[in-house]
Amino acid sequence: MPELPDILLLAESMNKALVEKIIFDSKVNQPKVLNYSKSTFQKRVKGRCFQGFRQRGKWVISYLDNKWMIAFNLGMGGELRLHWSVETPDPKRERIIFFFENGDQLWVHFWWFGHVHLIKPGNEAKHAQLGTLGIEPLSDAFTSEVLASILQNKKGRIKSYLLDQKFIAGIGNVYVQDILWYARLHPNRKANTLNLVDIERLHEAIQHVLQEGIRWGPGPGEQDVWGQRGQWGKKPGWPQIAYRTGKSCPTCQTVVEEVRIGSTTSYICPHCQS
Ligand SMILES: [Zn+2]
Repeated sequence: MPELPDILLLAESMNKALVEKIIFDSKVNQPKVLNYSKSTFQKRVKGRCFQGFRQRGKWVISYLDNKWMIAFNLGMGGELRLHWSVETPDPKRERIIFFFENGDQLWVHFWWFGHVHLIKPGNEAKHAQLGTLGIEPLSDAFTSEVLASILQNKKGRIKSYLLDQKFIAGIGNVYVQDILWYARLHPNRKANTLNLVDIERLHEAIQHVLQEGIRWGPGPGEQDVWGQRGQWGKKPGWPQIAYRTGKSCPTCQTVVEEVRIGSTTSYICPHCQS
């Protein structure tokens, strides 16, 4: 499932590929991915253009020039892909297709689940998922004090708060692995046992790993709007520990272990993380 760095890179590629191009038509092959009826959706987008894409949590969002917002959530294995006029989308695979006046097409494919939501002007905060998203971890507002207040009095495992989109938006089970390793925290560690030094280290780890994700991304299985992949697993040291079961920890050479915690898998160095 794409996370903050993957979504941010996807949004940037869509900015280069699609902004200001007129949508002359759309096709909806799977109406259940919409939050409005097929006809309302098609009416709202027809003749409009996307004014710029940005990342919010694990969503790509864009305003149309009629002030309505379109929010894409790719779920797991979803794709937003640019295609040329001569290509024909497979109606069983592509859920929605945007046709642009210059012949370009944007194909929206969902493998498991996904959403293409229309949001009325001014209603972003009322949207069930976007409206409840927590802070953006690469924003200036995300300070170590804010992180401390998020974790204050939380009795559960640190990992579950990092993954909970209501607290911090955009981190998932891929990037969280290296974040916890850099912070030298075991995913099972109770959040309320972190001291100020732990919190500062965790704050730095979150920003560092997400920025590296943007630098070398997109992450495993993810692609930008042209289908370009990133350096995950190809560049030495990226990732440091995620999905590296049986390899050695870059710091202490202890063997990386894969442990199942709750419903997620974790990759840890049993020596460095506690
Ligand atoms: Zn280690």
